[in-house]
Amino acid sequence: MMYKGVIETYRKYLPVTENTPIITFFEGNTPLIFSRHLSDETKCQVYLKFEGANPTGSFKDRGMTLAISKAVEAKKKAVICASTGNTSASAAAYAAQAGLDCIVIIPEGKIALGKLAQALMHGAKVFEVAGNFDQALDLVRKLGEKYPVEIVNSINPYRIEGQKTGAFEICDQLQAVPDYHLIPVGNAGNITAYWKGYKEYYDRKQISKLPKMTGFQAKGAAPIVLGHIVEKPETIATAIRIGNPASWKQAEAAAADSGGSISIVTDEEIIAAYNLIASKTGVFCEPASAASVAGLLKRVKEGKIADGSLIVCILTGHGLKDPDTAVKNCTTKTVKLPCKLEAVVRELGY
Ligand SMILES: *Cc1c(COP(=O)(O)O)cnc(C)c1O
Repeated sequence: MMYKGVIETYRKYLPVTENTPIITFFEGNTPLIFSRHLSDETKCQVYLKFEGANPTGSFKDRGMTLAISKAVEAKKKAVICASTGNTSASAAAYAAQAGLDCIVIIPEGKIALGKLAQALMHGAKVFEVAGNFDQALDLVRKLGEKYPVEIVNSINPYRIEGQKTGAFEICDQLQAVPDYHLIPVGNAGNITAYWKGYKEYYDRKQISKLPKMTGFQAKGAAPIVLGHIVEKPETIATAIRIGNPASWKQAEAAAADSGGSISIVTDEEIIAAYNLIASKTGVFCEPASAASVAGLLKRVKEGKIADGSLIVCILTGHGLKDPDTAVKNCTTKTVKLPCKLEAVVRELGY
């Protein structure tokens, strides 16, 4: 049977009725990839949930299908979001299918080129503002209060509802529940959504235990770990460059209630994991995504994760979104040669 997207697959867990028009690109059903390399290295069973395989290249599509479907049901004409890039790419695509106007507010100069290209190609009105994500989200909140635009950031509860399907999918694919669920934390909607999903599956008796929710923030943008707002967040992982997460309290609750944690990884650790995942498992994710694997390696080294644990790391977005960062930070480089057979053979050492 043809796969129909997260709303049809998990309809009975979602706030939709037969009157909800479904706007979908058949998001979800993303690969859960066993990593031999990471499993050997950590003495755990490590799976990578590759959310970069979603239609616009990030997990944002899971929430956007629902947020946009509900906006159409409510007869809205325009949607708006602040974005570090992927929310705008996703919103712009789903709005295009639905025939809605899409307004995007992004921090100037801090968006990966691929994400910006997506928003522009899908016809969004893109405003680059001289501020960071948190300031852009403040603007969006104010616009949403006063003007006829529907906010599709993760402060829109339908985003969280759609994104919780990621937890259902992991349990269905594994036919088990991970001991640890590792995930990058930016605005903290995703960790909130996954925890909600696991709890609902548990309450509906689909699973009989819950994972420890284990989040990671980048060192220069770690407000939850530090316990205070970061006015000028900085990290190479632009998708988690956030100083005042909208779902701060919910993320703290997810970590505390599950017996998990939220901790810090450095940009160096993120870049090392980013290279490792691509070169040793063949999965190309974006820098922010690699925070989950960087965190895994760190927690294992610290002795915080027992041998044999069942681990799922969420790889939130696709590496192709940000080829500049890839080429700049890659451990392999091109070798320039004359266009001669002998030159290539010599270089190969044959
Ligand atoms: C949005 C995003 C994140 C952060 O998710 P939050 O829900 O804001 O915590 C991480 N990685 C990528 C690739 C993203 O697009």
